[in-house]
Amino acid sequence: MIPQKLPTVETSIFAVMSKMATEHKALNLSQGFPNFDSDPLLIDLVSQAMNQGNNQYAPMPGDLQLRVEISKKTETLHHKLYDPTSEITITAGATQALFVAIAAVIQSGDEAILFTPAYDSYDPVIRLFGGKPVSVQLKAPSYTPNWEEVRNKISSKTKLIIINSPHNPSGMVFSENDMLQLQELAVKHNIWVISDEVYEHIIFDGHQHQSAARFEALSQRTFITASFGKTFHNTGWKMGYCAAPQPLMKAFQKIHQFNVFCVNHPIQKALATYLQEPKHYLELSSFYQKKRDLFLSLIQDSRFKFIPSTGTYFQLLDFSEISSEGDRAFAERLTKEHKIATIPTSAFNENQTDFRQIRVCFAKTDDTLKEAAGILNAI
Ligand code: PMP
Ligand code: GLN
Repeated sequence: MIPQKLPTVETSIFAVMSKMATEHKALNLSQGFPNFDSDPLLIDLVSQAMNQGNNQYAPMPGDLQLRVEISKKTETLHHKLYDPTSEITITAGATQALFVAIAAVIQSGDEAILFTPAYDSYDPVIRLFGGKPVSVQLKAPSYTPNWEEVRNKISSKTKLIIINSPHNPSGMVFSENDMLQLQELAVKHNIWVISDEVYEHIIFDGHQHQSAARFEALSQRTFITASFGKTFHNTGWKMGYCAAPQPLMKAFQKIHQFNVFCVNHPIQKALATYLQEPKHYLELSSFYQKKRDLFLSLIQDSRFKFIPSTGTYFQLLDFSEISSEGDRAFAERLTKEHKIATIPTSAFNENQTDFRQIRVCFAKTDDTLKEAAGILNAI
């Protein structure tokens, strides 16, 4: 019999709900991806890179020019210089960066603190390497972290804290004070940090993204993970990166080289050129804020309750006035009967007991958002 590495883990909710959406011909607002295309210029740059012969392996850490552009962007936005030759690695999406960063720091018996609801890959990967996830619950409606609780959950075995801001699924963003609290604890207790910043460029209402790169002592012990898929509307390309100080990046690359070795070469060439124009990422917040505002204005008279998301392209909707079903049953019924697929938030949160919420992805055309609102208003 094949050994059961992750006996309690089931197929990811994103795979389950997207499949169910297809089977029931439902509008798919579940898995987080845009239903519009990337900039044609970026697509042209990829085909140019292919036609120019960039079709063999990229360097193991990634195309140097792309690493230089990421380094410049981080220095401009966060005043922190990551050496492109030794402190940045291009990965197969943030998922692979997260996997490798967790593998680099977690040994059997170590504890890792997660804020739940948490993106679904953190917990199983910690377990895969013999670690124990320790949950700190973010509570509705604000989802702000309780640092006293974090402090109480730190033990001599705590080796890692994973944060995610802007936060999937709640849309909460960490404040400067949150990052300072994290920094103090991480330094004091000698804990590594993974800062999952995949929604770094999708942040609303004038909030500033508090990258771990902005906090010197914190950045010294942090792996930042990022995703081009979120920023440039091409989640299917599975491109991302990790930035970390040299000793951490060395440990990361030791594993990365045997995990994939390197990732898609022509896309890296294209991204290196495309990143040279800052408006390609700086305009994203206002682009998505308009979509959030359109969607929320359309459903304001529905029976769903909500607090507007502050970042990411997700919105939580509270359905407690509509049904007393569990969120999974509710989301499945919505897909089958009302032809709209969403994500039950308990998938991010095994401790969820006291609230009823589904997550909707608003990275959709305005027409799709209008159609979705029509369905939600009738529920
Ligand atoms: N972290 C978070 C918080 C996410 O929402 C996602 C999903 N897109 C990822 C990581 C993975 O990103 P990627 O698709 O680039 O692997
Ligand atoms: N990050 C995306 C979400 O939260 C999905 C990623 C995936 O499908 N694994 O919906």
